Amino acid sequence: MPKIYLLDVTNRDGVQTARLGLSKLEKTMINIYLNGIGVFQSEFGFPTTRHEYRYLNANLELAEMEAEAGAPAWLKLKPIRLGGWIRAIVADVELAFERVPGIKHLNLSISTSDQMINGKFQGRKNRDDIIKDMTAAVDAAWAKGAESIGVNAEDASRTDLDYLVEFGLAAKEHKATRLRYCDTLGYDNPFTIYKTNKALAERVGLPIEQHCHGDLGMAVANSLAGAKGTIDGGQDAYINTTVNGIGERAGNADLVTVILAVTKSKEFADGYQLGGKVNLSKAWKIAKFAEYAFDVKIPINQPGVGANAFAHESGIHADGVLKDPENYELYGYEELGRGDPIKVDTGREITAGEYSGISGFSHVMGKIKDVSFKSREEANEVLELVRYANVLSHKPLVEDELLFIARYPQIAKKLLTLTPLA
Ligand SMILES: [Zn+2]
Repeated sequence: MPKIYLLDVTNRDGVQTARLGLSKLEKTMINIYLNGIGVFQSEFGFPTTRHEYRYLNANLELAEMEAEAGAPAWLKLKPIRLGGWIRAIVADVELAFERVPGIKHLNLSISTSDQMINGKFQGRKNRDDIIKDMTAAVDAAWAKGAESIGVNAEDASRTDLDYLVEFGLAAKEHKATRLRYCDTLGYDNPFTIYKTNKALAERVGLPIEQHCHGDLGMAVANSLAGAKGTIDGGQDAYINTTVNGIGERAGNADLVTVILAVTKSKEFADGYQLGGKVNLSKAWKIAKFAEYAFDVKIPINQPGVGANAFAHESGIHADGVLKDPENYELYGYEELGRGDPIKVDTGREITAGEYSGISGFSHVMGKIKDVSFKSREEANEVLELVRYANVLSHKPLVEDELLFIARYPQIAKKLLTLTPLA
């Protein structure tokens, strides 16, 4: 039976959202947490973007490194796949491999709907040109050493199905690994996406990615329905998610909700299962980190990780849940890594920032287990990196970020290097 894999696009769709962004260190932490939760692939950024490629190279380097002696087990970037997003044109493929020579996994994107072909290219390209551009880009990526290639049909949900099949078959003929079905505008509903994805799986014969948006409030439901259609059509499904659902406009399918929906919803898990080892107990951690890093509060009613997800007040509910939690809860809070009290200092606090000195910094680091410095020089070097990280994130680093910099100062140095004038 084919399976459902998770392909998270927080570090691509999430960060391209209006008003929102992440520092390169924050993006790295998201990749590390996604690895911990068992996500198959992180779409970790844009290889052709100048301010991005040092971060991408540094993450690929980290993935190849053996863990530092004594580094905590969670601080790893393996076995998750790190994939880049580029346009499906040869020039982007060439630039991507020039700037990120070690990139192995790519998604190549091009518009397929008549609306976008006419509306964006304004007569400069037709349907045949789109397929020619895409296949040439796929060929170029293989020639440069790619190991997997997803081909993205942008605005697939508004694309004529026969043309989409033709596009998919051309991608398959050029050995593409997957076809990404982009419901770019969130136009689908579970009934339409099921039908389309099943037809694509059957007629194209490639694994299908579900890339769904929430403009009509159905991103998660559509992702499940699309995945079901794909599996019923005989292919593996790859659901695109983002942490806390952050993404263009109304957002994408939320990572934690997708995992809950696949594993807990009525009868779904009987026939449609997640591939790989997914560790839901990391859900709370990644959601809270994204909340802090994006500076976007998790809604009180967010599934699983919202403040009210396990809160009961009315008489009948409170009485029922106290007698047996299963009366009013579908799943336990412990499964999501919730339940530990959060300690908040209400007295004197020392934080590490861009103007910190060694005394305050040593105080902050002294509270973190798993870290000790061999010398004052080493502490000073890490402090300098922490200052730079603060310049980029404008807020105190969380303990895991401090730990990361202390363990991997050489990688951190690369993440923090931005040179717009060179
Ligand atoms: Zn998108």
